Amino acid sequence: MSTTEVENYPGFPEGVTGPELMERMRQQALRWGAELYEEDVVSVDFSKRPFEIKSEDRTMRANAIILATGATAKRLRIPSEEKFWSKGISACAICDGASPAFAQKELAVVGGGDSACEEAIYLTKYASKVHLLVRGEEMRASKAMRDRVLDSSDVIVHYNTSVEDAAGNAQGFLESLKLVNTKTNKSIPEPLKVAGMFYGIGHTPNTKFLDSQLGTDEDGFIIVSDHDKTSTSVEGVFSAGDVHDKEWRQAITAAGSGCQAAISTERYLQMNKLLKEVKMMDTKDAKEEIEAAKKKEAEAPKKKTHEPAIDADNFDIDRQKHQGQYALRKLYHESPRPLVVMYTSPTCGPCKRLKPMLSTVLDEYEKSIHYVEIDIAKDPEIAESAGIMGTPCVQVFKDKARVAVINGVKMKSEYRKIFSEQLIESSAA
Ligand code: NDP
Repeated sequence: MSTTEVENYPGFPEGVTGPELMERMRQQALRWGAELYEEDVVSVDFSKRPFEIKSEDRTMRANAIILATGATAKRLRIPSEEKFWSKGISACAICDGASPAFAQKELAVVGGGDSACEEAIYLTKYASKVHLLVRGEEMRASKAMRDRVLDSSDVIVHYNTSVEDAAGNAQGFLESLKLVNTKTNKSIPEPLKVAGMFYGIGHTPNTKFLDSQLGTDEDGFIIVSDHDKTSTSVEGVFSAGDVHDKEWRQAITAAGSGCQAAISTERYLQMNKLLKEVKMMDTKDAKEEIEAAKKKEAEAPKKKTHEPAIDADNFDIDRQKHQGQYALRKLYHESPRPLVVMYTSPTCGPCKRLKPMLSTVLDEYEKSIHYVEIDIAKDPEIAESAGIMGTPCVQVFKDKARVAVINGVKMKSEYRKIFSEQLIESSAA
């Protein structure tokens, strides 16, 4: 889950962060006997029974599969987008709109469909004014939605308008948008002053890896049966959440859809005499096990290479993994190895996903690559001089030259490829 704050999940009156919600779900699944592998699936074969699922690290076989790979909100990709991502630019008004940073401020929504209209109406609860930026002559949204927008005195609709770029204030937060008249193709001289811009321009489902083995609609969303909203065109393959749901797209609706898919899967396995019962851990045992694992982890002597070096007292160039600006400076000037720097921030959900994944890849290069983690909240000047516009960001240096920049979370293979290329070039030189 890439959302940082989830405000509308029932049972969390104070809200909950996306990573915390995921961690709680993870522990609950483990209690019920699930085995979890954090890996990217690269291909599936639905022509075989059991089905075959391949990641970069293993091939697995399964009698039934639930696909819950979600959808990625489309972005405009304006030049300053990364810079202001989560600092005013967002793709989810419903997740982020309640942030105090937007209270009683003017905000913008891009798009003219039902999502954009819904976001604009939703944001009027918090904003002083909402500007709806529609690239065409009219809105594509349903009449009911259009009317709600047009009837609201808090929403101003700008037709024939698109966003060219954004500008920020001294604190690095979004302050204004540079707009273009799409009819004349000319820039609008006056920037639109807004504290937030929300994209409502549609979603792309994460279904590419399925390689057309399932029925999808023209936008790539999985088609599910009308009767249970979770069976797909291949018997034994079920779908849950945003990978088929174009409309609701909330953590709570996806969780409900996951539950439907799980029950359908269980029925399918039972009917086909493929069901294997897994016993739930007793709640008391589960709690004790989690506590024991935490205690063990806290008490275990840390593996030397994983201990982060922060200052001159504990810096050791023979270690692979380090943390903080002291280590970065030392390694940048003294390390003969390629240097991987990961920029993170404390509230960044995707950073929490990337850290263990990158650490596993780096373990394969223990003696040949150095690594430093920089928390941009602790070392803002380093982040600024490195030109960091969003987290997570991984930069690779060789002989003091920056040779690669990887924004966001990518597949393990992408990091491996870049690291290996640098090592091959090093040995060839
Ligand atoms: P849509 O594809 O319907 O609309 C996308 C909007 O974004 C369009 O207005 C499109 O403009 C605009 N757009 C796309 N790319 C750009 C771009 N690069 N720059 C500027 N504008 C752009 O997606 P939605 O997410 O709105 O809706 C998806 C589906 O979900 C629909 O079927 C909708 O009815 C449904 N839905 C229903 C809701 C409800 O009833 N409550 C709520 C939300 C969604 P243009 O029109 O010019 O192509």
